[in-house]
Amino acid sequence: MQDVMTICNYCGCGCGVYLRVDQGRVVGSYPSKNHPISQGNLCSKGWHLHEFIHSANRLTEPLMRKYGKLCPVSWDEALDYTTKSLLRTKKAHGSDSIGVLASAKCSNEENYLLQKLTRAGLQTNNIDHCARL
Ligand code: SF4
Repeated sequence: MQDVMTICNYCGCGCGVYLRVDQGRVVGSYPSKNHPISQGNLCSKGWHLHEFIHSANRLTEPLMRKYGKLCPVSWDEALDYTTKSLLRTKKAHGSDSIGVLASAKCSNEENYLLQKLTRAGLQTNNIDHCARL
């Protein structure tokens, strides 16, 4: 077994957590006593951080609703559809009819790119962030 130090990705607090790895599978989450933010503490979400990693319920590919049923599609199809829908909405109702929610589960760099896409690409300041998304 191996304990790998990382940061909990459930919210923006940034608690230090060790993920316990056994034969290539993450099997546990434990607080880091020496971490300057969390100092040996985790909330209930942090203690269960490892549980989603190997879940069979995780989405592993884009899904689109077709005829009332969610169907797997390629990234190209999903992104084409999303782009066309956003541009159609912007043209019909204006830039401020669109809003974007960023996520604490993304890296700072990914959230930076999302706000850039929102402000420069979609031309709206309607971007917000919920640390509990
Ligand atoms: S979800 Fe809980 S454990 Fe994770 S970073 Fe936030 S406060 Fe810390």
